[in-house]
Amino acid sequence: MDRRTFISSAVGLGATALLCGCARLSPSDLAATALPQASLGPLPVTAPGPQVIPFDAGRIVRQGVPSGPIYGLPEGSKDIVAWTVDDGFNSDVTVAYAEFVRDSGIRMSFFVCGKAESWANAAPILRPLVESGQVQMANHTHMHSNLLNLSDGQIQADLMENHEIIRGLFGVDAKPYFRPPFGFYDDRVAAAAAGVGYTVPVLWNATLSDSGEIPPPTLMQFADRYMKADNIVLGHANAWPVTTLYPQLLRILEDRNLMAVTLNDVYGA
Ligand SMILES: [Zn+2]
Repeated sequence: MDRRTFISSAVGLGATALLCGCARLSPSDLAATALPQASLGPLPVTAPGPQVIPFDAGRIVRQGVPSGPIYGLPEGSKDIVAWTVDDGFNSDVTVAYAEFVRDSGIRMSFFVCGKAESWANAAPILRPLVESGQVQMANHTHMHSNLLNLSDGQIQADLMENHEIIRGLFGVDAKPYFRPPFGFYDDRVAAAAAGVGYTVPVLWNATLSDSGEIPPPTLMQFADRYMKADNIVLGHANAWPVTTLYPQLLRILEDRNLMAVTLNDVYGA
């Protein structure tokens, strides 16, 4: 490899590193990689953005599919966290999440509420990520009702209407994972859901507290408190603040060596 080839390929690596980070390329980033081919000086050092900890299945102690509700991940794996995102009540935020996942490579589970049109808008970005396994889709009901107030038949009809929306948009069977809206469920609700194959209510033990709009620094305080090993972290694709914080959120995961996983990564398909 002559000097020119080496410089050229090194510049290529620099650009790749930037693309793998979540930070968008800015004009200054592009300028930094545009090294003149004839330059014999030191290669430019670009400051990489926060990086996703690469997926390593060897860090996970895989479990069978749970037989009931889960609130956190089982202990025993090495520094893993499940980042889960609900609702999709703001289409711009949902699409921004989809772009973040695509561009960063982070693994994530989305709990789709099918009445939100945003999922159709984000589907072109998310569908290939679902097919690769980087993204998992789960059921957050169609109407986002308090299931305690619905009959067994209404619960089952709502879950299955949403089930078909998820299958249509993303080509996957979301069973057995569902998240009851507001976390409200009891044994009757769980039994009704199980009757149509949704046997695992997925709750959470950590939250970004962003179902509505909160100040970005507050969201980061929740992230700092809760982005910890074995947690199921609850986020929402509802309000803009999180879309301004992806680099900082990735930085927390990177600093803590936390590997993001989907539910299927831990519990099997
Ligand atoms: Zn919700």
